[in-house]
Amino acid sequence: MQFSRFGQKFTRQSGILQLMDDLGRALSEGKPVNMLGGGNPAHIPAVEQVFADTLRQIADNGAAIESLANYSTPQGDACLIAALAAYFRRRYGWDVTEQNIALTNGSQNAFFYLFNLFGGEFDDGSDKSILLPLSPEYIGYADTHIGAPRFLSVPPLIENAEHNGQSGFFKYRIDFAALENLPALREGKIGAICCSRPTNPSGNVLTDGEMARLDALALAHRVPLIIDNAYGMPFPDIIHVPARLDWHDNIILCFSLSKTGLPGVRTGIVLAAPEVVRAIASLNAITNLAPTRFGAAVAAPLIESGTLQQLSEREIQPFYQKQAGLAVSLLKKHFSDGLESSLKIHLPEGAIFLWLWFPRLPVPAQTLYQRLKARGTLVIPGEPFFIGFDTANYPHARECVRISIAQDEATLDQGIAAIAEEVRKAFAGAA
Ligand code: PLP
Repeated sequence: MQFSRFGQKFTRQSGILQLMDDLGRALSEGKPVNMLGGGNPAHIPAVEQVFADTLRQIADNGAAIESLANYSTPQGDACLIAALAAYFRRRYGWDVTEQNIALTNGSQNAFFYLFNLFGGEFDDGSDKSILLPLSPEYIGYADTHIGAPRFLSVPPLIENAEHNGQSGFFKYRIDFAALENLPALREGKIGAICCSRPTNPSGNVLTDGEMARLDALALAHRVPLIIDNAYGMPFPDIIHVPARLDWHDNIILCFSLSKTGLPGVRTGIVLAAPEVVRAIASLNAITNLAPTRFGAAVAAPLIESGTLQQLSEREIQPFYQKQAGLAVSLLKKHFSDGLESSLKIHLPEGAIFLWLWFPRLPVPAQTLYQRLKARGTLVIPGEPFFIGFDTANYPHARECVRISIAQDEATLDQGIAAIAEEVRKAFAGAA
């Protein structure tokens, strides 16, 4: 059978396919695996109890069957959209109506639309890319373009940092000198600017100052600023440093129910100018008819009552902050006895991962990943996260891995012990 160019592009090996494949197999094969790969959220009992109660309530009041038995418009479930518009007005004072919100089948689906809406060939003959102000960025962006990948990114400034009085940490900062002087921006070859905040994979939270400067840059170049808020405020609120959330109609703010604990309902939320919302509805109609409604049926009452925000503040954020502390202490425990200087940890400011840097690691992180996988520990190697620039002369990209902190203590302990052992072996082999 022969596949078209589209078919070939979307069926070859990709970072996100490898990641989701590993995740699915680990969950279904029943073999013991230290699952530090993937982005499945944790099962937090207090949160799951609220979801279970809500399911019973919407089964009893008919909302569940109504949502299962009828399509919505291509824009998405009207009840959730109305609840969200009211909530954003109430909570943030934003001038938002139903015309500013569209739903998608997960936010991954939204990024596929947005990157193809703003990146690619344009009628005036120009060819535009999506600018990622700081790479590493979310691996799921990398292969989303229908044609050739159109991402351009800037490597980060790396600052040494302390965390709770301990050394051995670092933080990425946007290299604005390089970013603001990019020829592609001047030449009109950028269609949108996009960042995740908190950032997957690094757990970095771009500061309010950095966000304000990105906002100004996007406005100056008349392109939208896409903010991937999958881990951000007000839900799931997995953010451990002070940060503000802003929106106006040049910002496309993307939310997801996934990291609140509902990845299976595949519900993404896009808050944007009505023109963008209409474009998303059109894409939904062609590719999906309408987005899934079941997640909307669960989320609408939780948004209306403020419960999702409360759960995020009282359960989800504290849970992941504790997990981050635990994972850091396990890393410090296992990277001892002469191994201390071979590990640096990105400041755990948010999201559900820790980003580990092994300076001068003698083997590529991809090899480390394979060796760990062979012994039952899954991590994600760093290189595929460096989207949009040539990493051939950038060893840092091959010295990093991402680990999930959503697992229980025993899994984290065994997985981190295995990582330390393989890193030790790699350095010993090189010596
Ligand atoms: N954006 C980021 C930063 C993510 O980490 C993920 C999933 O891991 C997504 C978007 C897509 O998530 P979903 O499609 O489940 O909303």
